[in-house]
Amino acid sequence: MAFEGLAQRLQGTLQKITGKGKISEADVKEMMREVRFALIEADVNLKVVKEFVKTVSERSVGQDVMKSLTPGQQVVKIVKDELTKLMGEEQSGIQFARKSPTVIMMVGLQGAGKTTTSGKLANSLRKRNNKQPLLVAADVYRPAAIQQLETIGKQLTIPVFSMGTDISPVEIVRQALKKADEDHNDVVIIDTAGRLHIDETLMQELKDIRELSSPDEVFLVVDSMTGQDAVNVAKNFDDAIGITGVALTKLDGDTRGGAALSIRSVTQKPIKYVGMGEKMDALEPFHPERMASRILG
Ligand code: GDP
Repeated sequence: MAFEGLAQRLQGTLQKITGKGKISEADVKEMMREVRFALIEADVNLKVVKEFVKTVSERSVGQDVMKSLTPGQQVVKIVKDELTKLMGEEQSGIQFARKSPTVIMMVGLQGAGKTTTSGKLANSLRKRNNKQPLLVAADVYRPAAIQQLETIGKQLTIPVFSMGTDISPVEIVRQALKKADEDHNDVVIIDTAGRLHIDETLMQELKDIRELSSPDEVFLVVDSMTGQDAVNVAKNFDDAIGITGVALTKLDGDTRGGAALSIRSVTQKPIKYVGMGEKMDALEPFHPERMASRILG
């Protein structure tokens, strides 16, 4: 289960303080030492851990908490508040264009789940938002990617625009936008090429697609199992092309949680969706507060 180690350690630590009728600064210090370890073990970014511990400590030793009737419970609430804030506070939806179509660019490294998430997102937007999406196969470097997207489209009965692999992705996107206009698709989801590592050519290609399509959203798809690496990838993509949000995949696995807890703080970009499995309905809007509740039990 995701966050298992972190949840166990945090719950154990907080349990010790919850019932206390009176707490001292030393109690808070001791508790925060354990919280710090728990977060580091969950592969949370060190700077994020440091700031989190500082904020929770400062708030916890405040007069209103220490002098209250239930200081332990208040401290637990502060931890939950700050954990929620770390992940973004509110669920942030999709920015739909005022004039259709809404263009969503999906970017990310190979294997992160970009193609799968493109399909899931199209499915979700049709179901939850009543949209008529068009999927665009613009990953011309991995031939299987086009086929994979076409299979997904067939399975969902959602149209897929593809032109094979011998044509530039920018041209594919140009034609796809025309097609969406003709067919009255109100959302265009572009599955761009991934690489094993970030490189200049890839970034330039993504910049060109962005320039041409003026996307309303640029979603970075990252694998939550890669922890700190996911955070670095997010930072790199954001610096190079600018992302508007993150789709965090494979949260159904036993990820330790580092990516989910660090990405927002490091990039200032919200996690908008989480992938909860391989099936086409396994994509959920991300709710920071619910996630914090899940971690703290
Ligand atoms: P891409 O190279 O980024 O396009 O990655 P794919 O979409 O091909 O996904 C890579 C693998 O991850 C596939 O086997 C997907 O089924 C799997 N995958 C994607 N998202 C999830 C998820 O949320 N949970 C699980 N368990 N598997 C996922």
